[in-house]
Amino acid sequence: MSKKIKLVLPFVLMVVLAVSFLSARTMTDISTYGKLINYVGIVRGASQRVIKLETNDKPNDELIGYVSGILDELLTGEGKYGLKRTGYESFNKDLEMLDDQWGHMLEEIEAVREGGSKEPLLECSEDFFDLANETVFSIEEYSGERSYALSRRLIITAVFCLIACIAAVINYVKKYFDLNKKTEMLTEQAGRDPLTGALNLARFLKDGDDIILKNPGLKFAVLYIDFENFKYINDVFGYESGDLLLKKYTQLMQESMGEDELFGRNVADCFMALRRYEDKDELLARQMDIDNSFLEQEVLPDRHNVTVVCGFCCIEDVIEQLDVQGLINRANYAKKTVKNMPRKHYAFYDESIRDKMLSEIRISDRMASALANHEFLVYFQPKVSPADGSVQSAEALVRWRSTDGSFYMPGQFIPVFEKNHSIRILDQYVFEEVCRFLHDRLVKGLKVIPISVNVSKIRFYTPNFVEIYAEIKNKYGIPDNVIEIEFTETVACENQEYMMDIVNELHNNGFLCSLDDFGTGYSSLSMLKDMSIDVLKLDARFFKKSADIEKERIIVQGILQMIRKLEMRTVAEGIETEEQVEFLRSNGCDLIQGYYFYRPMPEDEFAFILDNSVLQNC
Ligand code: C2E
Ligand code: CA
Ligand code: CA
Repeated sequence: MSKKIKLVLPFVLMVVLAVSFLSARTMTDISTYGKLINYVGIVRGASQRVIKLETNDKPNDELIGYVSGILDELLTGEGKYGLKRTGYESFNKDLEMLDDQWGHMLEEIEAVREGGSKEPLLECSEDFFDLANETVFSIEEYSGERSYALSRRLIITAVFCLIACIAAVINYVKKYFDLNKKTEMLTEQAGRDPLTGALNLARFLKDGDDIILKNPGLKFAVLYIDFENFKYINDVFGYESGDLLLKKYTQLMQESMGEDELFGRNVADCFMALRRYEDKDELLARQMDIDNSFLEQEVLPDRHNVTVVCGFCCIEDVIEQLDVQGLINRANYAKKTVKNMPRKHYAFYDESIRDKMLSEIRISDRMASALANHEFLVYFQPKVSPADGSVQSAEALVRWRSTDGSFYMPGQFIPVFEKNHSIRILDQYVFEEVCRFLHDRLVKGLKVIPISVNVSKIRFYTPNFVEIYAEIKNKYGIPDNVIEIEFTETVACENQEYMMDIVNELHNNGFLCSLDDFGTGYSSLSMLKDMSIDVLKLDARFFKKSADIEKERIIVQGILQMIRKLEMRTVAEGIETEEQVEFLRSNGCDLIQGYYFYRPMPEDEFAFILDNSVLQNC
């Protein structure tokens, strides 16, 4: 209840009580006046009867006593008839005059009884009658006035109560609407992302499903949008700049929203939109215009910018009956097909993407049975010394030969297993296969060389990862420094302190550590000084044909020198030409892994090389 109402309510109640009390009193008075009118009327009538009896010589003292009694009680307010004296002066005066006149009449009656003339008595009685009439009129008038005052008071009270009620109702209705508004506001806030004000996922899904359901005749598309290298923006320019980008983009997108269109933020830099469209080209052009104007705003310093990538899923292109969540998944899928592609930033979900998705689902579903059937094979790619061409070590690379005869490369299934997190099972399987291979050779007294195994990000962050791997290594009796663990630069950059601990733990358990794909990320150099890594693998991208080969050479030379000074060994990946080998040899690269020397090969071929290579130096 509002403060005002709380203050006014007791006042209203007091007024109503006071008015009720006064009105009750007035009503009692009015009924009293009614009785007085009756009794004055009785006095008037009875006096006439007294005169009639007296003039007919039938005196009636009892009747006279009755009239005197009433008159007496009217004057004093005391007696057996319950007549009260009023405070109305004019009536009281009339009563006194009436009583005086009654006194005269009694004298005249006495005179008539003693044989006197009746004439004076009749005159006196007429005066008495007139006086009695006036007395009745007077009290009637007073009673009328009181009644009028009462009804006026009652009307005022009723109006007052009505106003109070209306005020209370208005207040109640206002409060009801205020509450509704507040509830709406809270619901609205609850459905929005606090940073950007865009809809959150739950709200986007709900509103999106409602809109699509209500407009079956319209064409709708769901867009899934994100910024490339947003993590880089946050790291380099700080979270404030990252937040500013998200807010600016939200503002632009929200301004562009039409009727029955929605914009929301899922997580981090992932946005989604529901758009109406007539024509797909127009839909694409509309989005490109927004993204271009966003990029023109130059939110970041020094003309740095992000790249916006967007996947579209038009309902008309989806065979299944999907809700908005399903459409988002498909739009996201389409977006992933263009993420990190140099020139293409927009993709529509279509049949080919659908096929790819379905094949991923099939791959994902087949993982468990493939493991059980030993469909995963470990291939080995030797790493060669550029100095003498000897095989110094090798990398274990997984392949999948399905029972139906299909042969899959890691690029086809590893991303799927990374997505569904089953990659850690596969990593462990490959690792154990390598241990088994080495164990078999060791038992037979055959030569072994260090083998590196890849470990995915998820495996790295699995608790007891090192403990589990060390247990397997020990189970197969593998000597220390024979197995090398390869993890990527991105994994290392993400959580350096954790990585340093893991690297130390790996060393303590007799593993070598290798940093894979060096040069693909952005904070590699700062990291190298803190981490005691044994081997650094230069990514194949360093050796791909580039616009300025001279600059490229200078960079690789510099890195090789630096790594040597840091007492790490270097492996160059993806080496395919003699020229590359020559360059690496002359610049002191330790090992070369590439098709120039060997492609990844099955276990028996690799074993053959190990058994027959005269140059190997174990
Ligand atoms: P990676 O770890 O960088 O492995 C090197 C990749 O480069 C291998 O591809 C290898 O075949 C390829 N390669 C080597 N030399 C050359 C060359 O001269 N030219 C070209 N064009 N390519 C060369 P692959 O076997 O297809 O493996 C691809 C990626 O899949 C690997 O890249 C690795 O990230 C991942 N992978 C492979 N096996 C496993 C595994 O057991 N576990 C995990 N987590 N990832 C694995
Ligand atoms: Ca690798
Ligand atoms: Ca690599």
